[in-house]
Amino acid sequence: METDGSGTLTDLPDVPKIDSARCSGCGRCVAACPLRLITLEVSGFSKSAVLCNVELCTRCGQCVKSCLLNAIMAIRKSSDKATPEA
Ligand code: SF4
Ligand code: SF4
Repeated sequence: METDGSGTLTDLPDVPKIDSARCSGCGRCVAACPLRLITLEVSGFSKSAVLCNVELCTRCGQCVKSCLLNAIMAIRKSSDKATPEA
């Protein structure tokens, strides 16, 4: 069966994508990231989360889970990737 391409595993990004329009700047994801890769950026009177050092992200998904506003798009977990053959 054909799909319309929405929501399939392979469509998910490798690293978290933060939707600044939804982000309230609450900081939950900042605290949730074990590697402290997310910071809050101030713009005028508002704050929003920004992912820094993307290349260090382990795709653990903690930030995605921590966001109560669904401002961080689900990612393909590192465990979803095919492991290299030995
Ligand atoms: S947890 Fe969600 S709403 Fe809070 S700062 Fe992070 S992305 Fe923004
Ligand atoms: S997926 Fe994990 S390592 Fe990557 S930014 Fe989110 S909490 Fe940090």
